[in-house]
Amino acid sequence: SNNEKNDFIRHIVRDDIKAQKYPKIVTRFPPEPNGYLHLGHVKSICLNFGIAEEFGGDCHLRYDDTNPVAEKQDYIDSIKKDVQWLGFEWTGDALHASHYFDQLYAWAVQLIEQGDAYVDLQTPEEIKLNRGSFNEAGTPSPQRDNSVDINLQHFNDMKDGKYADGKAVLRAKIDMADPNMNMRDPVIYRVMHQSHHQTGDKWCIYPMYDFAHPLSDALEGITHSLCTLEFEDHRPLYDWLIEKVGFELPPHQYEFSRLNVDHTLTSKRKLKQLVDENIVAGWDDPRMPTIAGMRRRGYTPEGLRDFCDRVGVTKADGVVDMRLLEFSIRQSLENTTARGMAVLKPLKVTITNFKEAVSEWESLKADNVEARWEEDAQTLWLSQPKHPNVDMGVREIPFTETLYIDQGDYEITPPAGYKRLSPEKPEIRLRNTYVLAVTEHVTDEAGNVVELKATIDPSTLGNNPEGRKVKGVIHWVSASRGVPATVRLYEQLFSDADPSSVSDVHQALNPNSLTELNAVVEPSLADAPAGTRFQFEREGYFISDSELHSTDKPVFNQIVSLRDSYKP
Ligand code: ATP
Ligand code: MG
Ligand code: MG
Repeated sequence: SNNEKNDFIRHIVRDDIKAQKYPKIVTRFPPEPNGYLHLGHVKSICLNFGIAEEFGGDCHLRYDDTNPVAEKQDYIDSIKKDVQWLGFEWTGDALHASHYFDQLYAWAVQLIEQGDAYVDLQTPEEIKLNRGSFNEAGTPSPQRDNSVDINLQHFNDMKDGKYADGKAVLRAKIDMADPNMNMRDPVIYRVMHQSHHQTGDKWCIYPMYDFAHPLSDALEGITHSLCTLEFEDHRPLYDWLIEKVGFELPPHQYEFSRLNVDHTLTSKRKLKQLVDENIVAGWDDPRMPTIAGMRRRGYTPEGLRDFCDRVGVTKADGVVDMRLLEFSIRQSLENTTARGMAVLKPLKVTITNFKEAVSEWESLKADNVEARWEEDAQTLWLSQPKHPNVDMGVREIPFTETLYIDQGDYEITPPAGYKRLSPEKPEIRLRNTYVLAVTEHVTDEAGNVVELKATIDPSTLGNNPEGRKVKGVIHWVSASRGVPATVRLYEQLFSDADPSSVSDVHQALNPNSLTELNAVVEPSLADAPAGTRFQFEREGYFISDSELHSTDKPVFNQIVSLRDSYKP
């Protein structure tokens, strides 16, 4: 197709397909279930699942669950939900590195038998110290040249719980002088008396990520193992282990640059700190750059995928402007969200000629106005399309004697260029209904405007006013038929452009990241089920909150502003 993606990894995949190197392309997304997935993972998900989709291959979802201390079922469940929400489906069942523990153990024994691994009884401090430095070769462990039999015995003792945590490790026997520190006899198994969410108390030794990962890839027949650049110097170990164990069709690791976005964090550990310290309301707080948070915020899977396409896949490290993400989200909303009116900072308006003016609505309305008078409730119900695309249906908007407009739409002393209401410019069009003229403003003791009195021009229901031009259109909501709603506005969670560089995360926070407003919304907005996205006219895109919204007590989260000067 003409929007075929062309990054360096897809080039490699295409070449491998051309060379018939593999019967099928197989990728994997390998999260550790120690937190919720975040924006960085979205990039990896789009890449791994995207390649499988585009090239008729498979993509596995594999939990890299080799560190039971930090892992839990809630994280496992959230990861599945998040991947599916993004619009991807893994091949077969979700997999676990922990399901390979028997096989991984057997391969560790094989390495020992081949003379490629040994049990080291040094303390963790000694191991670290004796690893040497970049300029200086390491010092071999006293156990490095132990016999195969002794190593087998020690390893078996490790497995049987005869060592306390930290008293013994299995190390690959590679090269204590390798300039790549990852090759200086890396630890591949450790003692950890800790039960595991999948294997219970069966094991008290656990494989290290660097051991489990390549061998799990090989076991599953992964062809292209895609990871971020910081694993580039783990690749020699990846290849070494796969070669020592021996596979017919070894997987290959390719590295791409991490996704970094300004004013945000992509580290589960730091995001977890925000949750644990109640700095945010949970992993799915709409300010969080987690998939769960972005979903609750109202971001769309289409927008996130479009964002990843725009960012692309390269080896160049960089920081992406958050406004690019917002641009993609906004674009995905433009043609898909119903419109509605919500007044975020309500100012009461009483229409003093309401009854007389509205009594003539039927004879004076324009042909294209559809309305219905409800006598009991003294309400004129206006039918309006939910969107310029009329296929999205209509909504009924109640127009009544008392309304709310936004406080920002009336100024006693307006700034230069102000286009809305003021004593000098008392007339304006109320969106979807009449032209309104303010006749009086009421102020409180502090001088704040607390109410307007106004009239409507009966001849202007869908018609231009006669003999004058009225500039400007504002939104409004009926005071008696509108529904009080909580509207949550957001700013960046971090005021610091690079919060990861700030050692104390508290110092990077934006104190104004959340503002809760007591707003009023038209009934069609309140009536929507939780999780419905809207364009609030003149205000932006909003979603009814998936947890807290109800028709009686509506709660909306701001998704993005209506527009931004930023252009990608
Ligand atoms: P964290 O540091 O947040 O814990 P991680 O890399 O340890 O992230 P994993 O669960 O191991 O998290 O990640 C699963 C996959 O997602 C890995 O292949 C990893 O490379 C990828 N990934 C994680 N963060 C990013 C990022 N910022 N950009 C691109 N890919 C990422
Ligand atoms: Mg990881
Ligand atoms: Mg991590």
